[in-house]
Amino acid sequence: MATCQDCAMCSKGNQTNSLDIGYFSPTTKCCTYYPTLPNYLVGAILCDSDKDSLQGQSRILEKIRKKIGITPHSISPPRKHALLYSNGNRGFGRSESLVCSFYVPEDGICSIWKNRESVCSTYFCKSISGVDGKDFWNATKSYLSHVQNCLAWYVLKELNFDLNELMIIFERYENSSLDANDLDDRPCSDEEYSKIWQRWAMKEEDFYRLAFQIVTNLSSSKLEKITGIVGQVLLEITKKKREDMTNPKLPNILKRNPAVTIYRRSSENSLVLAPSGFFEIKNVLSEVLQYFDGTRTNAEARELIKSDYGEALTQELLISLYQNRVLIP
Ligand code: SF4
Ligand code: SF4
Repeated sequence: MATCQDCAMCSKGNQTNSLDIGYFSPTTKCCTYYPTLPNYLVGAILCDSDKDSLQGQSRILEKIRKKIGITPHSISPPRKHALLYSNGNRGFGRSESLVCSFYVPEDGICSIWKNRESVCSTYFCKSISGVDGKDFWNATKSYLSHVQNCLAWYVLKELNFDLNELMIIFERYENSSLDANDLDDRPCSDEEYSKIWQRWAMKEEDFYRLAFQIVTNLSSSKLEKITGIVGQVLLEITKKKREDMTNPKLPNILKRNPAVTIYRRSSENSLVLAPSGFFEIKNVLSEVLQYFDGTRTNAEARELIKSDYGEALTQELLISLYQNRVLIP
């Protein structure tokens, strides 16, 4: 569950502590990622008449003007940025050098929110279903990323691009180190740019808009055909993860996860560092975890808790502790 306007990953004023638990910086939040926007989503942003999209549109047009990371397949991060990102994961959520070029820091919002791509639209720093929720969103991301890539190539095929030429160029980018243009934030040579854009060179904006029209007109059966057997498999996995998330099968016997750390922060609350992330719980809840020792059944543990504390641990809370892997089989 995300509360992005009041970022759940940023330290609040009253959370004074010296623990380095990975809070994000309020100036970056989680937008220290630079998405690759497939051609039709670029078109969706450009075609959007909503005034909230104006800022995103002007950023796209500026990128097209600069010709860096602009291809008929997608708009990608500059290669220098991609290199920093792939080697700077400890800066995620904190480094201003990694901030996305679609982020509006003054307002703490995304300028292309409505049309953001698979990674951004499936990222949730916290999930009410803990690890199961994160697994579901990761599976959804894999599926949507596959769909995006297939659709981007479908557009290129429909518009008769020389796909072999494009493949050769993209593979070269993938397998070569950065050149002087990449390092100095300059576009590739005019000759290279013409080879990439073919008959659409200097008509990039029209191309992206057309890509959006092509994808908008696809039927669901055509989409299934385009995304193929890999799409079917990824969708099946996503459905399975959704089932795990919404109907978790609670093991009959649970124990406290030794990998979980709990810090008492006040007379009321404790901070939990669990496999699903960090969050606060009431101190009394941290105390009753000891009743789950890997030998008692859940029913026996809950009975003992009720007798010792006069209050039952609800099934909902038990499921949450399990889904956050605070309790494990
Ligand atoms: S999804 Fe990002 S912006 Fe939203 S609450 Fe989480 S870290 Fe903050
Ligand atoms: S596209 Fe939007 S949501 Fe994604 S990283 Fe950039 S600003 Fe954040």
